[in-house]
Amino acid sequence: MAKRDYYEVLGVAKNASEDDIKKAYRKLAMKYHPDRNQGDDAKAAEEKFKEAKEAYEMLSDAQKRAAYDQYGHAGVDPNAGMGRGGPGAEGFGGFAEAFGDIFGDIFGGGQGGGRRGGGGQQVYRGADLSYAMEITLEEAANGKDSQIRIPSWDNCDTCGGTGAKPGTKAKTCTTCNGSGTVHMRQGFFSIQQSCPHCHGTGKIIPEPCTACNGAGKIKRQKTLEVKIPAGINEGMRIRSAGNGEPGQNGGPPGDLYIEIRIKPHEIFERDGDDLHCTVPIGLTTAALGGTVEVPTLSGKVEIELPEGTQHGKTFRLRGKGIKGIRSAYPGDLFTHVSIETPVKLTEHQRKLLKELDESFKKGGDKHSPNSKSWADRVKDLFK
Ligand SMILES: [Zn+2]
Ligand SMILES: [Zn+2]
Repeated sequence: MAKRDYYEVLGVAKNASEDDIKKAYRKLAMKYHPDRNQGDDAKAAEEKFKEAKEAYEMLSDAQKRAAYDQYGHAGVDPNAGMGRGGPGAEGFGGFAEAFGDIFGDIFGGGQGGGRRGGGGQQVYRGADLSYAMEITLEEAANGKDSQIRIPSWDNCDTCGGTGAKPGTKAKTCTTCNGSGTVHMRQGFFSIQQSCPHCHGTGKIIPEPCTACNGAGKIKRQKTLEVKIPAGINEGMRIRSAGNGEPGQNGGPPGDLYIEIRIKPHEIFERDGDDLHCTVPIGLTTAALGGTVEVPTLSGKVEIELPEGTQHGKTFRLRGKGIKGIRSAYPGDLFTHVSIETPVKLTEHQRKLLKELDESFKKGGDKHSPNSKSWADRVKDLFK
C-alpha cells in the first residue's frame, strides 16, 4: 500500500504552522483513541492512530519536516531515532507506547525522565544546580579550600513537611486512591499513567500551608566546604554529588556543579600548564646585557640577559608554570622581553644619544642586524 502524504494524513496545508499541526494531530489522536474505537473498528483505528503519530513526529520536527518537504518519504526514515517500540515495531509494545506518548501530550503531563517507585508514585530525580566560582591564578595553581553558600531545602517548620495548613490534613486522592498512578485498561492492553489529578503524589491538599505554599519544603541557604584541586583550569567543573535540588516523591537529589572562572592576572597569562609574561627592559640593558628579576608564582628569579638581547626574545624557565590536575610535571614559564624606549630625556642624555647615533652610522649596518636584513628584503621587493 502506498504511503499517504503526511500533510494529507493530518489534514493540514503544506504551509501549516507548528501549532496547526499539533492541533490536527490531537484531534486525530482523540478520534482514533482506543477508548472510542472498540470491537470491529479497533484494528482500523489503530492503523489510523499510528499513521497520524508518524506524520506528527515527522512534521513537528523542523529538520525532518524540511527533509520531507524536499525529498518526500524517501527523505525521512520514520524508524530512525524512535527508540524501542516506535511505529516500526509490531504488536502491543508499539501501540502501547504510542498511547502513552499521546496521554502525556493531552494531559499536559510533560514529566519525562520520571520512573516509578515502590509505592507506584512517579519518582523524579532533582534538577542539577550550577555555581560559578571565581578564583585567582595563584589559587588555581596551588589549590584552595573554599566555602560556598548554596540553596538547600528543609522540611517546612509550619506544617512539618506535609504541605497542609496546620490543623488540616492532606487527603488521599480519590482518582488514584493514593497510588499516584492510574491504570487504563482497554481490550488487550493496560497502561499505567501518573495521576493527572494529584500529579503523582497520591495526595490532595485542600488547604495548603501558607508558609511553603503546600510544597512542604522551605528553601534555605547552607554552607558547603569545597576543595579546589591544585592545577584546576578555567571552565573546569567540580561535581558535588547530591547537593542539587531535592527529588520528588522520594527521588534522589540532583548534583551541584561548581564551574571555575579564573580572574585575569596582572602579570601572567596561562596557556594550559604554561605561563607567559612580558618583562620590560631598558635599551641600554638590552644592548649591554645584564641581570633582570623575573616574577614566578613561587617567588622572583634572576635571569642573565646576554649582550645584544633583541626585543621579543623569549626565555624559557622550565618547571615554573603550573602543574595541571592530570599532568605529571609542571609546565614552563615563558618570559618575553620587551625593550623600552627611553622617554623624557635631559639635554645631556639627548646629546649622548646623538653622539651614539653618529657613532652607529659610522659603523654602517653591522650594529643593526635586523634593519640590515629588512632593508635587503625591501630592496629585493622593488627590483
Ligand atoms: Zn509548610
Ligand atoms: Zn491521584
